[in-house]
Amino acid sequence: MNISSNFDSGNIEFISQHDNIFQLNLRRDSHAKYAQWFYFAVTGQAGKRSQFQIMNASESSYPAAWAASKALMSYDRKNWVRVPTRYEDQRLIIEHTPEYNLAYYAYFAPYSYEDYLNWLSKIQTQCPVNFLTHTLDGRMMHWLQIGEATPHKKKCWFIARQHAGEAMTSWFTEGLLDKLLNEKETLTKDAVFYIVPLMNPDGVARGNLRANAHGLDLNRQWKNPDPKFCPEVFAVRQKMHEMGVDFFMDVHGDEVLPYVFLVNSRDNLQHTARQKQLEDAYCEALLKASPEFQMQYGYEKSQFSENTPTLACSYIAEHFQCLSFTLEMPFIDNANLPDAKEGWSPTRSRQFAEATLQALTAVLPSL
Ligand SMILES: [Zn+2]
Repeated sequence: MNISSNFDSGNIEFISQHDNIFQLNLRRDSHAKYAQWFYFAVTGQAGKRSQFQIMNASESSYPAAWAASKALMSYDRKNWVRVPTRYEDQRLIIEHTPEYNLAYYAYFAPYSYEDYLNWLSKIQTQCPVNFLTHTLDGRMMHWLQIGEATPHKKKCWFIARQHAGEAMTSWFTEGLLDKLLNEKETLTKDAVFYIVPLMNPDGVARGNLRANAHGLDLNRQWKNPDPKFCPEVFAVRQKMHEMGVDFFMDVHGDEVLPYVFLVNSRDNLQHTARQKQLEDAYCEALLKASPEFQMQYGYEKSQFSENTPTLACSYIAEHFQCLSFTLEMPFIDNANLPDAKEGWSPTRSRQFAEATLQALTAVLPSL
């Protein structure tokens, strides 16, 4: 057996190997039923046409995603390429002949907890890294502040990676910080930015799709987070109450829909006309800022109705009466601007972050 996922963000279970055919299972999230994320290594297959069959693909959280999904492969865990993948007989089949003996396969270009720590070390010379809380596994959670907080400035929040497998949201955050730090003087003239780059460190390190270490979906805990089981949301919410919120974006990835879209807080009972106006203005500005964004495809209005009060976007909108969005980027590709080779990628996630800031600048005076 030369398959392993025993590393940061890794996820796979080995079942069997016959010649160059490997049968594997997705491992379910810690104490939860979610499964979709995979990230594993194979050693010793250089020059051998190999087939990796994910046997329980049809029992995953989003089986509808597989038909159009293409796995990612890397030799150095920096450069990832899409490899031939098909969904057949309820199995996800990745077929590839590695050039070198050690190859990695993943659902999306991974961004592990160690990657996050390395990135923090790098950016802390330009922006202070603040401790927020410890997670259930004892990992660190941080928040970043860009710009001095003065009373006249608008308080703009971005949080990412509530759902552990949505690695594109970490690439987004890198792009966001690059832009904020490179153009700090202009962007923080009338705004102060608060960023929580990694909401779910335990889920990310454990290789979960959605849940934290206790098995909770963090984006269903915002109404009444229990600090014992969900210190992540509890701590961020407390910090928001302390600092205030004028703009909020919760950054996510969607497994199925091949589009970039926003989810607003319109399902809220107390959604005001002012909020609606701000939402329209922001969406219009974002359409101008990036051809990746569109408003035709997204979630049905009532998709979250039962969960609405527990979502971050809704809780913030209701409590702070401010502009509040969930952003969804695809795992697969943007069907309006398809890239057959790369699909949706870390680069596109980074670039889209810049567009969200550009749109924010346009509506800032009205916030
Ligand atoms: Zn999500």
